[in-house]
Amino acid sequence: MLLMEPKTKKTANKTEELVQALEQAETIIIGAGAGLSTAAGFTYSGERFNKYFADFSRKYHFNDMYSGGFYHYQTPNEQWAFWSRNIYVNRYQNPPKPLYHTLYELVKDKDYFVITTNVDHCFQKAGFDKKRLYYTQGDYGLFQCSEPCHNETYDNKDVICEMVKAQGFQIAADGSLYLPEGVEAKMSVPDELIPYCPKCGKPMSMNLRADDTFVQDDGWYEAAERYEMFLRQHLNTKIVFLELGVGYNTPGIIKYPFWQMTAKNPKAVYACINYGDAVCPREIEKQSICIDGEIEKVLPCSFS
Ligand SMILES: [Zn+2]
Repeated sequence: MLLMEPKTKKTANKTEELVQALEQAETIIIGAGAGLSTAAGFTYSGERFNKYFADFSRKYHFNDMYSGGFYHYQTPNEQWAFWSRNIYVNRYQNPPKPLYHTLYELVKDKDYFVITTNVDHCFQKAGFDKKRLYYTQGDYGLFQCSEPCHNETYDNKDVICEMVKAQGFQIAADGSLYLPEGVEAKMSVPDELIPYCPKCGKPMSMNLRADDTFVQDDGWYEAAERYEMFLRQHLNTKIVFLELGVGYNTPGIIKYPFWQMTAKNPKAVYACINYGDAVCPREIEKQSICIDGEIEKVLPCSFS
């Protein structure tokens, strides 16, 4: 017990430091990784997985949505049954906890920008201005040609909704997906719902940066440019780089640039909340607030 005390105290002080830094900031740049959506309740295993994928789990013996995404299904009908449920619950359904709304309240009156590797669109759903968002790795809500033969993306909401309904699911008024009592889900979608490229006829795929077929459409380039422009205009202001749940899968997108930009501006603060791994290089230690904790516990208690 005694040993725990100093650590708790330290975290509390750091949270206060963070609150103060955010209050005083002219500019806030949020950099968000997978850990943020996990903290908001978008978990890929456990209860959420069992609720929507128990049949897939029984048949193919995987226990989380992530693994299910790599499975080579025998037919496209079955593949799209899996993917439509996955896309629906992670893109069109709201996350269980209002963490993104908390974040929005925190920055909405500031000059802010968001860069994220998440593809679940939670920022926009929570009210963030889409002109201030840069989704570097794509969007679950968009299809592209799998080849790809052209650089366009297509909204998939309508067809995804039809696919989940064709399997027996229903969509509640609040947008949540459920299986009515006594209905057994079909693990297949009808042929006519399987999406093909309108130009070359090859299968469509999700607009996700999984390999070199990722399509960067006009919207993607415009967002990238807006982010670059925002950085150029605000780099020397009193800026907080708020990094949330960013791991080491793709540190070159958010983490390393945040460190470098902090080092170049003595007025900048690098703030990082990450469970199990919140560190910074020695060069920017004095400008940094690293909190090793669960984001949903650090944020609401400090800002409500
Ligand atoms: Zn095509």
